Amino acid sequence: MKSEICPICQGSAFLDQRAHYELALDQAPTNYKMMRCAGCGLRWMTPYPNPEDYQTLYDNDYYEALQEGGLSYPEEKQELLPCYSRIANRFSAFGVTKGLLDVGCGTGEFLVAAKANGIQGNGVEPSAYAAEKAAEKGFHIVNGVLADLLPVSEPYSAVHCSHVLEHVPDADRFMDELKSVMALGAPLYIEVPRQFDGVLDVMHRIRGYRRGYSDYSIHHHYFFTPKAIKILLGAHGFEILSMTTYLPCRRAMRKRSVRMFALQSALWLADRLAGRGDVISVWARRRA
Ligand SMILES: [Zn+2]
Repeated sequence: MKSEICPICQGSAFLDQRAHYELALDQAPTNYKMMRCAGCGLRWMTPYPNPEDYQTLYDNDYYEALQEGGLSYPEEKQELLPCYSRIANRFSAFGVTKGLLDVGCGTGEFLVAAKANGIQGNGVEPSAYAAEKAAEKGFHIVNGVLADLLPVSEPYSAVHCSHVLEHVPDADRFMDELKSVMALGAPLYIEVPRQFDGVLDVMHRIRGYRRGYSDYSIHHHYFFTPKAIKILLGAHGFEILSMTTYLPCRRAMRKRSVRMFALQSALWLADRLAGRGDVISVWARRRA
């Protein structure tokens, strides 16, 4: 097995054949390898999955057609509204009223929730289609990536960055950029998927379920663990205020049923016992 160095904790890393198999990477247009760090558990795909290989994923269809899990993008956003409102609420509790930046703001739903909580925010979004939709909601949106905002004339007083970090080409560079757009003491909300080790993925594995190859197999570069996130944030001068791998608000809008109750209970328990829910949700503050 070929050994490489973990980009986050510098631990030694090995080929993860099981993750490679589960994403059906043998069918990918490029010969991708999955690496896993023996120290912090981070997995990453190498070479960096070129957005050109999955660019059709984020064209207009992505925002109108069905997504993973059978929900359309608007339905998924609708389902996440209780979470957006809780997050916006917590930014308010930090005293944030303006100068919030939503990195990867999509079609602007979080900015709407922030506004409803009395917080003025802007966004940056790489998809031209999504950026335009968000701008139509009355927000100032830059169509691009975080680096396109640099240097900022006035640092942001809060940053929301949900389901972005797993896509970036270089997590270290991204965290440097994040730090340089933020004021000292500013709160940061980061959320990424808890892929492979989460209880839902483990249950799928036990039942022999394999999703098969699609653009979704190669749209993530990093697959974080709570430990890897902790090390990454710490190394970039962020103090972690709280971290969880289960957010009850994510499925709060779904119809109540025995099955849904069992699913939520399994996620809650997996989070409590082993940090193995389905997302990694982190509140932090810029300290240095
Ligand atoms: Zn590591």
